[in-house]
Formats: sequence, structure tokens, C-alpha cells
Amino acid sequence: MRFLITGGAGFIGSHLADELLERGHRVHVLDDLSTGSIDNIRHLKDRDAFGYTIESAGAPSIVAELVDDADVVYHLAAAVGVELIVESPVRAIETNVHCTEVVLRLANKKKKPVLIASTSEVYGKGEKLPFREDGDLLLGPTNMGRWAYACSKALDEYLGIAYFKEKQLPVVVARLFNTVGPRQTGRYGMVVPSFARQALAGKPITVYGDGTQSRCFCHVSDVVRALCDLMSREDLAGEVFNVGSTEEISILDLGHRVREAADSESEVTLVPYDDAYEPGFEDMPRRVPDLSKIERVLGWSPTRNLDQILGDVIESERQGGLEIPAARLV
Ligand code: UDP
Repeated sequence: MRFLITGGAGFIGSHLADELLERGHRVHVLDDLSTGSIDNIRHLKDRDAFGYTIESAGAPSIVAELVDDADVVYHLAAAVGVELIVESPVRAIETNVHCTEVVLRLANKKKKPVLIASTSEVYGKGEKLPFREDGDLLLGPTNMGRWAYACSKALDEYLGIAYFKEKQLPVVVARLFNTVGPRQTGRYGMVVPSFARQALAGKPITVYGDGTQSRCFCHVSDVVRALCDLMSREDLAGEVFNVGSTEEISILDLGHRVREAADSESEVTLVPYDDAYEPGFEDMPRRVPDLSKIERVLGWSPTRNLDQILGDVIESERQGGLEIPAARLV
């Protein structure tokens, strides 16, 4: 089969390209390299079954041509990372909404199935945990950048499901929880690569807030397996699936675990949210997925635990992961 991956030079997209090629498919990547990197797909450039185009997923003429040549579309192109969203909200909102509009409109012309990569951010500050796909979304006020991201991705979901309901376009939504692994850049604030780099550089490990907030981290190889399995079925159109891990850890404990795993002498320091992001920034205290749907429908669950994940990230950072600006190392 032939797959188009928008955002395919990004962290998750490039691992998805690897996995689809591994499964014997053809893959074409569309990416404008705004947050992705050519380094992520350099190892694929010489493969016959692989092609790429450096352009925005919001460029209709290019998307039209690439959709024509594909059997299935993975739409991963998005402005991601809380830091990027807080700093460049216009770009984030416009990218997320516009690109999805273009991809869905053109995929619909040829009725090509689409997977939309969404995010656990859409659950917002919902308090009913674990988060279920059919649960309510609870977002904050419009003057806080973080919620703009959640809202833009929720709109992507609404649009995808509307295309399914109104025009019978096969659309599946994957809500990705915190995903980590090699190639993830810490440039936009993602916590695991940031901590790993700080630990390896012997710099302070910067825990935001009081560190009691918790997350569940899933290895990218498990996530891309779920993405492949979701599109290998034809009966899931119109459905939303959580994809992630349920192994929960507080960010303060994570700081210490990374320090230990990296055999580092770094101190673990607390940084107020107002300094880390913007005044009044609201963090999610907890974020845990309910995985019963994807387990029941696909028999999918993560295979790698947090120790394996941290070991893998630290090892890849030791081997020279992507650079981050020195400013982030504090
Ligand atoms: N975080 C932190 N130090 C960092 C980067 C992030 O303490 O250098 C915290 C952040 O405030 C959040 C958690 O780690 O509570 C996860 O952040 P990330 O941006 O990786 O993902 P998300 O907030 O989307 O879950």
C-alpha cells in the first residue's frame, strides 16, 4: 500500500515512516520542516519505497497531488509542544486548523482514508480520570495559550468526524498521550528529552511548579504500532482512540529517575511555572488514558516500561541526539 504522512519528518512521523516501510509499504512524507527535521528521515532517503516533499500540508496543490498517489493518509502535521504554542499562538492555531481543513477536503475528493493525530491536550483540565474517549473536554479561558492548542486540535477532531458523518470519508482519530523516544527534540519543552540533556550535561534538571504533576510516558515504537494497526482495519471510521501508557509518575520523581538512569550529578531544581511559561499558566495535574477501547478493539497495549524508555532516550542522547539551544540547559 502507499501511505502519505504529513509531518513525516517529525519525531513520531519519522518513526511511523520507518514502521510502514518495515511492513513492506511505500511511504511519502510531506513536511515543511517547521518543527520536523531532515535529520529524522535522512536514513530513508535512498530507499526506493520512500519519497518526500518539503512543503506545508496547507498547500492545496501539493497535497492534492500527493493524496492522489496515496491509498491512506496519516495527518500528523501540526504545531506541537506547549512552549511553541505559548510563544507563537497565531502560528499554532492557523497551522493546526488550516492544514487539517486542506488535507480532509482533498482526501475527501478521492475518498482516501485519513488518520488524524490528535492529542491528550484536548481533555484539558478534566478531573475525571482516567480519560475516556467519550468523556467531556474541559478547557480554560481564551487568553491562555495552552487552551488554544487544545481547542485547535479538538476542532480538527470535530472536522474529521464531520467529514465521516456527512460525507462518509473514513476518518480515524488517535489521541496521543505523552510520547517519547529517540529523535524527540527538547526544543519545544518536552520534558523527557529536556531532562535527559540536562542530566548528561551536568546542568540542573528543571522541574516546573512543585513537581507533583504527573504524566504517563509511552515509547514511540508502541505508539506507531498502534497507528499502523488502526489503519489496517476498515471498520473503525468515525472512531476516536486513546493511545498511550498508564504507568504514571510525578515530574519530580521523573527528574530523579532520569538523573539516576543517566548516572548524573545534576541537581534537581524547582522552577516556577510563571518563569517557565507565561504568567498564569495552568498545568494539568494528572493525565492518564483509559486504554480499554484500544485494548478491546485492537488488542493493543504498550510493551515498554518507563525504565526501558528512559534508557533508550538517554542512550540516543549520548550518541548525539539533536541539538537544543544552550538557553534551555539553564
Ligand atoms: N516540565 C518540566 N520541566 C521541563 C519541561 C516540562 O517540569 O523542562 C513539565 C511540564 O510543566 C509538565 C510535564 O513536565 O508538567 C510534561 O511536560 P511536556 O511539555 O513534556 O508535556 P505536556 O505538558 O504536554 O504533558
